[in-house]
Amino acid sequence: MESDENDGLLEFYASEALTCPRRIYFRLKGYPERWPEFVRVRLNQGVNTHNVLGEILSRRFGFELETPLVLRSRKLGFEIHGRIDAFKDFPIEIKGKTSLPRVPYDYHLAQLNIYLRWAEADYGYLYYVKLHERPESIIGKLDFSDFPIVKGPNFRLFEVPYDKSLFKETLKHFYTVKKAYERDKLPRGHFSYACRFCPYRYLCYPDEE
Ligand code: SF4
Repeated sequence: MESDENDGLLEFYASEALTCPRRIYFRLKGYPERWPEFVRVRLNQGVNTHNVLGEILSRRFGFELETPLVLRSRKLGFEIHGRIDAFKDFPIEIKGKTSLPRVPYDYHLAQLNIYLRWAEADYGYLYYVKLHERPESIIGKLDFSDFPIVKGPNFRLFEVPYDKSLFKETLKHFYTVKKAYERDKLPRGHFSYACRFCPYRYLCYPDEE
């Protein structure tokens, strides 16, 4: 994959890595998003969490926030765009969740893996932070003395190495969606718990309208 010059290839987002192909298809085709109200609230809390933690990573540890990246493959006919939450030698991806996972989500690993590939870094971190109306109250209790290892309640981190085969799988996933897009053929959806949070739920579950 190359990483310069834009020439109008199909654009995917790193945050879409290994997520529901149908959802990506709907976005590419320009269907309007309809976010459920409870998701909006969570998204806002997530943004606030990113802001508070990002401020610490930037001020105290000199990380750059929202580092933009593009990986491009003319051969496959698409680009992957992303913004790394925090970057300095290695990427840190921050995820606000209502409950902390025991193991990282596959699609979060795939997203971080794209950043690792772009940065040519051997490893990076996934920081899971419990969502709260006032994120300061969670982040204020964290111990950064062993940074980038961070400890504390309502927080979990995973140190993740670059995974070449996961990157290949991610490219394959995007390529499958690209083919569906070009053929105007609706791909199969994941129909998982993630449908609750999907802005295109109204298309997959029209009877609920
Ligand atoms: S509602 Fe579910 S199956 Fe349909 S696009 Fe969204 S995530 Fe995919």
